[in-house]
Amino acid sequence: MERTFVMVKPDGIDRRLIGEIIGRFERRGLRIVGLKLLRPDRSLAERHYAVHRDKPFFGELVEFITGGAVVALAIEGPQAITLVRQMMGALKPEQAAPGTIRGDYTTDIQANLVHGSDGPETARAELDLWFRPGELLD
Ligand code: GDP
Repeated sequence: MERTFVMVKPDGIDRRLIGEIIGRFERRGLRIVGLKLLRPDRSLAERHYAVHRDKPFFGELVEFITGGAVVALAIEGPQAITLVRQMMGALKPEQAAPGTIRGDYTTDIQANLVHGSDGPETARAELDLWFRPGELLD
């Protein structure tokens, strides 16, 4: 059993796609074990995207993610990290396959609706960053 951190980004809230996105993960059989709606402050956003600190798009990315509310999710299931990544679709719009969240609903490399941890260590770190222990189901 694995846990991963997932975020519905501000464009997902603006476009009224929270239910659609969470519903896809639930219908797959994955279990929601943590969930909150919040507007991340700059410090949280910068820590979340610290790996991209030196990229030219970092400033724009932090502005985007702090520009509205997001839904933070802890999602559990067998191979949850990999399954979520597959269901999200690729980063580059032209590589995001139809049937994936990004492939079905997005054309933009930044406003791409959803984040999911890319590996076990990232998942642990991101869950620790966004949730306190008592906020997740056992
Ligand atoms: P992900 O794991 O598929 O989300 O991709 P990355 O970890 O590489 O990038 C994190 C996020 O940064 C992406 O989901 C986008 O929102 C944003 N991003 C990545 N590459 C670019 C880029 O070239 N330009 C801009 N503006 N945003 C980007």
